Amino acid sequence: MLKELLQEQQPIVYKALETACLENEVSSAYLFAGPYGTPKKEAAILLAESIFCEKEGLACEECNTCRRVRENVYSDLIILDGSEEPISKDMIDGIQEKFSKTALEKNGQRVYIIFNAENASISAQNSMLKFLEEPGAGITAILTADNESRLLPTILSRCTILPFVPMKHEGYLKMAEEAGIQKDEAYLISHVAKNLDDINELMIEEEDGTRTPSSAYASALGMFQQYLDPRQRNDLLVDYEISWKSKERDPKKAKKENMVIQNAFFDLMMMYGHDVILHSSQGPQWYRRALAEAKGSSKIYGKLIMIASEEKDRVNKYNDLNLLMDQAFCRLEELDHESRI
Ligand SMILES: [Zn+2]
Repeated sequence: MLKELLQEQQPIVYKALETACLENEVSSAYLFAGPYGTPKKEAAILLAESIFCEKEGLACEECNTCRRVRENVYSDLIILDGSEEPISKDMIDGIQEKFSKTALEKNGQRVYIIFNAENASISAQNSMLKFLEEPGAGITAILTADNESRLLPTILSRCTILPFVPMKHEGYLKMAEEAGIQKDEAYLISHVAKNLDDINELMIEEEDGTRTPSSAYASALGMFQQYLDPRQRNDLLVDYEISWKSKERDPKKAKKENMVIQNAFFDLMMMYGHDVILHSSQGPQWYRRALAEAKGSSKIYGKLIMIASEEKDRVNKYNDLNLLMDQAFCRLEELDHESRI
């Protein structure tokens, strides 16, 4: 399960954790650092299981203790998730207060995990730092970060940092196929989904085990297909408003869905740029046809990749997603004119 996944995808991290657990040299603070999509969350859970599990070395992953850790119902484990809401000083102080009392489980160890710890305010990070400096006996901190440069250097220096490397593309493809997605579709989704959660969000599993695109992913695919058709390309700006944007009424849900649509669209655009340059021909027939008909120089497609990558980066930072798409479509349109000169 988690052990296999980690051993396969991050052998160096796996070895480091295995050795630390076997030799009882688990440090008091870890930072799992690496790009989005790398299995840092899974590794954090595995390490917590290993600390609490009675088996020597890494966790057995089968006992009651391991199961309770995975289900987040183990009393001496606290998990905060910075990807869901920013980490505040109060949350960190809350952990400290709870852990100032004796452990509740007989194992005596206590662990707190903070996913995306970089999404913590400066005052929260200062609290974190104080706690890392004087953790108390039997307390282990496990932090994860997609972007560790947003953590205070003094926090970094307190942690054992384990770097996670991105999976090779074949790994994502295999993951998608194993999730039951048919080969041609898996090629596309493997450029968008970086873990099983992403796959489940983008390709909904039906009762018979087959998968169909979620409304957000279907929109992204629709936009992408429209872009691939040079006659329809310049209507994207208008059609986005009419056809592709989230239909959710709740503004919060709509924003979330629009982020999924835009991220997926820019991922597909980057895939397209790379595939044209590399003369690749994979994926569904309509996509392979578009690749075969692609005109223009590598330089143009290099620019296309750059625009898609920059715009994708902005999706996660920008507040006005409509304005962002307007600008993105204008840049794509300009590129289109440039390629015809
Ligand atoms: Zn166990």
